Amino acid sequence: MLDMYYITDQPTTCPICGIRAELLADFYHTNLKMLVSKCLNVKCKYVFLEVEPDQQ
Ligand SMILES: [Zn+2]
Repeated sequence: MLDMYYITDQPTTCPICGIRAELLADFYHTNLKMLVSKCLNVKCKYVFLEVEPDQQ
């Protein structure tokens, strides 16, 4: 399972190295409500999930 982070209104950056990340897959409009992003840093290439923060 990939690590999960909350979606923000900022451009997505890698939680490991801080470099911009690209969108790999968009499940935001499905029941999963998540995005899969990958770090653009060739030395990192960290892949992670972004989910909506809890609305409670
Ligand atoms: Zn990275």
